[in-house]
Amino acid sequence: MKGVGGGGKGLGISPAPLVIDDQGLAEGIPFIASPNCDARPGGCPVSLLVVHHISLPPGVFGGTGIVDLFTNRLDPAAHPYFATVAGMKVSAHFLIRRGGELVQFVTCSGRAWHAGESTWKGRAQCNDFSIGVELEGTGEAPFTAAQYRQLARLTRALKARYPIRAVVGHSDIAPGRKGDPGPHFEWGRFRTLIRKRSPRRTPGTRRRIKNRNRTAKQPRRHAMAKKHRRFRQ
Ligand SMILES: [Zn+2]
Repeated sequence: MKGVGGGGKGLGISPAPLVIDDQGLAEGIPFIASPNCDARPGGCPVSLLVVHHISLPPGVFGGTGIVDLFTNRLDPAAHPYFATVAGMKVSAHFLIRRGGELVQFVTCSGRAWHAGESTWKGRAQCNDFSIGVELEGTGEAPFTAAQYRQLARLTRALKARYPIRAVVGHSDIAPGRKGDPGPHFEWGRFRTLIRKRSPRRTPGTRRRIKNRNRTAKQPRRHAMAKKHRRFRQ
């Protein structure tokens, strides 16, 4: 996978905003299709971004293990650890390598299988309404500056396209079962980077942002109630 770009090498990540197209693909980013995905039930809108970490074998960076796992091609005989995960049908929408290189496996409009049993604010099955991003890493070592920059760039692009309300760790939606991205992920650093540049405004973006509080079931009531509250004040 060395040389897979998606925005340049290491700290030379393109400063140009990333764009998610109508099909849910990040423009100019390598796409390696994972079969481990399906449709979001009822066209469930994307409202959550989940940050993970992964390395295969654990603590070893740069090999083909992650791509092989997400494409069901992991050789269980190649490493003792691989034998324990080779049969898993898992994926994430995106992977960010140690050098910041970005790879996409599932279109954002589809449901990737990254969260497992999970709950966010009382709502179960987070795969239905979330995007999963894997940072190549472990729970024992810091993530790289390039990874933070690329994650911020990707988050801005996703927020410009979808009504994302929160960015959380896997450990937040599956506490006790999952620990990633772990204690070395610096949430303050990530949030500072997000604020540095506002999302790219594309035609229709303002409308989407204005309507982001609407849910599928109660599209207008919530927005109208807010409006009325404002008028009363
Ligand atoms: Zn995870």
